[in-house]
Amino acid sequence: MYIGIDLGGTNIAAGLVDEKGNIVIKDSTPTLRSRTFQEIIKDMGVLVSGIMESSGWSMDEIKGIGIGIPGVCDNSKGTVVFANNLGWVNVPISHELEKYVNKPIYIDNDANVAGLAEYMLGAGRGYNSSITLTIGTGLGSGIILDGRVYPGSHGVGGELGHFIFDINGPQCNCGNKGCWEQYVSATALSTMAQGAVGQKGGSLMLELAGGKVERIDAKVVVDAARKGDWVAIEVFDRFIYYLAMGIISIINIFDPEAIIIGGGVSKAGEFLLEPLKKKVEEHIFYNQLGWADIKLAQLGNDAGIIGAAMIAKG
Ligand SMILES: [Zn+2]
Repeated sequence: MYIGIDLGGTNIAAGLVDEKGNIVIKDSTPTLRSRTFQEIIKDMGVLVSGIMESSGWSMDEIKGIGIGIPGVCDNSKGTVVFANNLGWVNVPISHELEKYVNKPIYIDNDANVAGLAEYMLGAGRGYNSSITLTIGTGLGSGIILDGRVYPGSHGVGGELGHFIFDINGPQCNCGNKGCWEQYVSATALSTMAQGAVGQKGGSLMLELAGGKVERIDAKVVVDAARKGDWVAIEVFDRFIYYLAMGIISIINIFDPEAIIIGGGVSKAGEFLLEPLKKKVEEHIFYNQLGWADIKLAQLGNDAGIIGAAMIAKG
């Protein structure tokens, strides 16, 4: 048995996971991220103890603990190098958590972990290689090649959200301009929609957002587009175009067997997937030999817990 912990900016979710990747029991607690890292990590320990107690399993049966981190980490040192969302720099997470649970601890980036879960147990089952794009507040990616997360040579590989899409584009929080994440994320989608409503007005999106432009989020865009609102359709089409063009670049670089779309925006389902596949087909560079299957993620929020447990399994 393994424990998987999904450390997020809003919640810490954790679960007891069996060898096959099934969650036996799970629970969560608010991150309350303005606290010190010591307090947050202590809560992770408390969460794990609570889960073990209600599960009826003994801690002796736990072989390891895996943690998905919303940022860059160094597994060999057990350190979170940088997590923008939490305001963490060089936090010795493994050392700190060992005060509460005496088990081997493994850490990796949350998008890598979600990508591994989808590869092993979700939409990526049966493929040798898959790349999972988690389209949420930002754009995370997990590259799995021949059954393993591809971490890069310095542990910072697979940051597809920060490949530079337009050198003259908007400022990204990584310090560069025009990263793909600035075009493909829930944040980017709502920013585009708010801009379009500001310019053109008269959109159902405004109504769905209670008359407040700043409340137009990704879900409002999708809901309005589904209902035929042309401003929303135009924005969503542009978003799909940006996503498709980035996917074509990924195919040109990796030629993976599958590309999996997860995160909050993937809840748009076939409404996103069908036009996306069409757009990729229209623009693909080399089509005679076929290209990646493009699929929706299957594990939802559980991917974080499952994937974290699977890195502990190794
Ligand atoms: Zn960036």
